[in-house]
Amino acid sequence: MRNVVAVSFLALLLLAPASTTQGQNTTVNWEKEKAEILQHYRALVQIKTPYSNETKVVEYLKKVLDAEGIPSKTFALDPNRANLVARLKGTGSKRPLLILAHTDVVDVQPEKWPVDPFGAVMRDGYIWGRGTIDDKDKLVAMLMTFILVKRSGAVLDRDLIFLAESGEEADPTGVGINFMVNQHFDEINAEFALTEGGTMRLENGQVKVVQVGTTEKVPKRARLVATGTSGHGSVPRVDNPVVHLGAAVEKIGNWETPMHLNETTRAYFEKLAGISPPDKAARCRALLDPQRGKTVQRYLAENEPSMYSMLRTSIVPTMLKAGVGANVIPSEAEATLDIRALPGEDIDEFYGEMKRVINDPAVKIVPIPATRPEAPPSRLDTEMYRVLEQVSKRMYPGVTVLPAMSTGASDMAQLRAKGIQAYGLGPAVTDEDRAQYGAHSDVERLSEASLYRFVEFAWNSVTEIAVKK
Ligand SMILES: [Zn+2]
Repeated sequence: MRNVVAVSFLALLLLAPASTTQGQNTTVNWEKEKAEILQHYRALVQIKTPYSNETKVVEYLKKVLDAEGIPSKTFALDPNRANLVARLKGTGSKRPLLILAHTDVVDVQPEKWPVDPFGAVMRDGYIWGRGTIDDKDKLVAMLMTFILVKRSGAVLDRDLIFLAESGEEADPTGVGINFMVNQHFDEINAEFALTEGGTMRLENGQVKVVQVGTTEKVPKRARLVATGTSGHGSVPRVDNPVVHLGAAVEKIGNWETPMHLNETTRAYFEKLAGISPPDKAARCRALLDPQRGKTVQRYLAENEPSMYSMLRTSIVPTMLKAGVGANVIPSEAEATLDIRALPGEDIDEFYGEMKRVINDPAVKIVPIPATRPEAPPSRLDTEMYRVLEQVSKRMYPGVTVLPAMSTGASDMAQLRAKGIQAYGLGPAVTDEDRAQYGAHSDVERLSEASLYRFVEFAWNSVTEIAVKK
């Protein structure tokens, strides 16, 4: 009898979803937690933090952590733009896990909003407001996970570090991640980090794809500067810099830079091929074949520009400057190029290739100092990535998990440059919500149901990798 009981108890442990943390109670009644999640989320959205004022969020978080008996530290280069760090100690048998979110938001044009952009208004099953998807959803998910781990009393294998950081959206003075990495790295040093930079695709109420951010392109902007002889507009000159610059911009704008896949994008297109309609699947497969890859480039450039950008270091001319009067030939003309390099791109070699394409000694390439460091992609063979895959499959049976490279840039760049394997997460949204109500849109919103499930996802991932088994 005793044996039978023991065996069925073991079977239960193996079957139960939270069974990975044997002997430790990491079960959460999510129905009961909804009110608290929503309360913190709405309060955080209601704190106005467009490019400033993050200290108000830090004060809010500190109060919440104090009430749980969790000490926290604040670090401020600018008193209005503080960062907060808190730590739950583990046994130290594994290196720490860092969970972070940024507390600033981009600005709003209030007249474009159907509701108060900082009201956290609830309507039609959504919470509306600036920051609801970038990044106060991650902030509340990491906060709730952190305090629920503390309440559970679970023993951790590794320290769990919570970081609320300022200045992700615009940080000309380096108050956020740069300050923390350069001045206080010991406070946040970890083996793995979880933060923004991923998403889940919701179709007919079901999550079909979980996209985990594992790498991103590197901003490497440059100016093209053409020089010539100034003079009277009535006398044409062959060295007119406006003409030389125009020709250079045309050549660069039409240059198809070399295509290159890395571990992340290769896995992305392989898996995407498996879940796409036939025509799209055929294009994805063509990309995996160096010979056939070339044939789909035109289609992608015209119809799927973000996919086109994922394949290469891209150059986009964004600004032109020349001239002081209609009758004056200027001695200088310049264009600004937004260059987004693939991770690992040898940029000096790339500039050399640009120079050959422009083929004009009157036009110089002047690099603009980089805003973010270069870093190798986070690996797909780590314990953390496996946990994210397992949790996704457990919570959303039949789901496809894709590693993804962002064409934009995030604070994960600084963490990866310090050797932290950082992974980007995000809540489930429909294609319509992504297109019309996404990050930085005129109107931002997140469904209440997605919010709760995302907190649960964060909790499952964190406990799975941090709680002692
Ligand atoms: Zn963000």
